[in-house]
Amino acid sequence: MVTKLIIFDLDETLVHATMNKLSYAPDFEVSPYVVYIRPFAAELLEFTATHFDIAIWSSSSAVYVEAVTERLFRPLYLPRFSWAVEKCVQKVDPRTNGYVYIKDLRWVRKHGYDVDEIIIIDDSPEKIQRQPRSHLHVAPFTESPSDQEPLACDSSAERITRPDQRLN
Ligand SMILES: [Mg+2]
Repeated sequence: MVTKLIIFDLDETLVHATMNKLSYAPDFEVSPYVVYIRPFAAELLEFTATHFDIAIWSSSSAVYVEAVTERLFRPLYLPRFSWAVEKCVQKVDPRTNGYVYIKDLRWVRKHGYDVDEIIIIDDSPEKIQRQPRSHLHVAPFTESPSDQEPLACDSSAERITRPDQRLN
């Protein structure tokens, strides 16, 4: 059986980076930002890395993505790739007239994964609009130290460790 690939978004999924400190101490800094790791993110990473291949795909800058990947994943986990905004397709969102950065999972095929074998965990549905069936949505994390969303995500991920189980 092919190992499924779990791709993690970073901002508001695993971390919250801000220039304005919250009411509690940040976990690390990637200048000019301070970065807060989402509660239970470590547990989610440990579970998913045990059962799946893992990777990172953020629409932030490459320098930032590399710094956060270094802090969150290595050396415990070796992501198959860590992609930044350069791997996103930039489109105008007609609703807002701003840009939306789309993560087209067909790009991952060159790493040997069929789109059906990929789950992306991301707080932004608009970025996964081309493969919505592969999207495990999480509520955005911005500040709550009591946030427990990764635990719910954990149980969804556990469900797809069983054969023939899909998100939808
Ligand atoms: Mg995000």
